[in-house]
Amino acid sequence: MKKAFSRRSALCRALSRLSGFALAASGFPIDAPAQPDSGESAPEEEHFDVVVVGGGIGGLSAALCAAEEGSRVVLLEKNGFLGGDTLISGGTFNAVDPKRQRPLGIVDSYEQFESQMLASGEGYNDPAVVRVFAREATTALIWLEAHGMRFLPELTEIYGSGFVRAHRSAYPRGRGYIHCLSNACIKAGVDIRPQTRALSILRDERGAVYGVEAQPREGNRTANAVRIFQARRGVVLASGGFAANKALLAKYAPEYASLPIDSLPSSTGDMLLAADAIGADTVNLGFVECVPGAPPGIDYQVRLDYDAEDIIMVNQAGRRFVNETGTRREIASAVARESGPCYEIADQDAVDGMSRANQKSLWRGYFAKAAWKDDSPQALAVRLGISPQGLADEIGRAVADGRFAGPPYWGVRIHLRIHCTLGGLRIDENARVLDRSGQPIDGLWAAGAVTGNVHGINRLGANGINCACVFGRIAGTAAARRAPQHLPATGRIHS
Ligand SMILES: Cc1cc2nc3c(=O)[nH]c(=O)nc-3n(C[C@H](O)[C@H](O)[C@H](O)COP(=O)(O)OP(=O)(O)OC[C@H]3O[C@@H](n4cnc5c(N)ncnc54)[C@H](O)[C@@H]3O)c2cc1C
Repeated sequence: MKKAFSRRSALCRALSRLSGFALAASGFPIDAPAQPDSGESAPEEEHFDVVVVGGGIGGLSAALCAAEEGSRVVLLEKNGFLGGDTLISGGTFNAVDPKRQRPLGIVDSYEQFESQMLASGEGYNDPAVVRVFAREATTALIWLEAHGMRFLPELTEIYGSGFVRAHRSAYPRGRGYIHCLSNACIKAGVDIRPQTRALSILRDERGAVYGVEAQPREGNRTANAVRIFQARRGVVLASGGFAANKALLAKYAPEYASLPIDSLPSSTGDMLLAADAIGADTVNLGFVECVPGAPPGIDYQVRLDYDAEDIIMVNQAGRRFVNETGTRREIASAVARESGPCYEIADQDAVDGMSRANQKSLWRGYFAKAAWKDDSPQALAVRLGISPQGLADEIGRAVADGRFAGPPYWGVRIHLRIHCTLGGLRIDENARVLDRSGQPIDGLWAAGAVTGNVHGINRLGANGINCACVFGRIAGTAAARRAPQHLPATGRIHS
């Protein structure tokens, strides 16, 4: 009888989390799962093999790989829903993929991907880490597909990616990744704890990491007591970037601190600070990626730059002022140097090639007077408030060189926003977190936007989700394979 009850409640919890994901994906918060009603107060200390912090693609990949290795895994997520920035991302994923690239006549290789990342990072990324990333992105793509993720057949060169190897999700934005991986995690027995914010990292007297302190919440009620999550084998940090932490931005990248951000408010760098507090090395904290995004007062993206080769960027004189296939850093710097507003221009073919979600946002922008369209280049220029002659000349050239097929033409103003932070924890090619003397911290791994030496000064477009998945998989597998450690007797802690 007791057994039947506990099996049923486990199923109920799994289902409630599943439906929680579905609700979260449509923008509704979910409650933390109810604690078992045993009549006793909830335990303050829990034991697992692997503790994962963060429920974006990095954390879900780590948790699933650790569970597939047979580990008992808990995933802590401070939001009431899974997904993090992955959920709201554009969902594009770079990987060398001969199966899809060859039929398009695209010649690619791991070495080429690697050298493009190193050139883009300008010496601020770690070559050994980049080498693994370039190769493992393909393995990660195949692994995701095996877990039900679907990509559109055609590849694209998205803005700032520099090459045609971006896979577009067949699902809206980043939802496909979160949907497939969270389902797989539940099936694999990962214990998912939404509304549970990790606070600090615990080390034993040898300096090895053995768990985290975290604070669960129930619904919108005030926080419960702090609880210890002990890890016999290891802790994986996959807690995202810190774009939403104004104080950290003001300290490390003050020139960007006043810009609006694309990230979720939960991207506050809590675990970056917690790891720093136990001696982890941090790098490149001043590097921030800015891209065109939502205009002020609008909470959705109004953009045309999803395929860099299909658009032109013009200034007040209606003239192109930057190579649109350049790096995101080059483009953001060029926009910032212009004395007036700058604009993206595309033809209808480019808009037709955008994802349904991006087209929908563009049309919303059109009706909100944040995007404009016209058959005549001169008339479009008048609507945008830029030189009609200049724009007509540039559009004429774009038609002549085959970039544009013809009218109607679209225009949106470029509003720079902080897309993500590029700095964070220094890891090695095995995703181990390094201390300030370059030694791995025993028992601690990290993946995704919380790390800082993968991209360097500039991240190639479509290199965020794949990065978190690659190093999440490496981290979760390695943590699960570490020999189980004797856990220190912490006793119970009191809030
Ligand atoms: C608007 C937008 C569009 C993007 N488009 C693309 C794209 O098309 N392609 C691409 O490759 N990249 C894109 N990116 C970047 C990409 O989304 C990120 O690089 C990637 O999702 C990072 O994954 P992650 O798992 O490291 O972090 P996240 O997905 O952000 O997940 C981190 C999770 O950790 C949780 N967390 C944080 N602190 C704690 C704590 N203390 N305790 C518990 N949980 C915590 C957060 O709530 C969050 O859920 C985009 C980013 C944005 C903002």
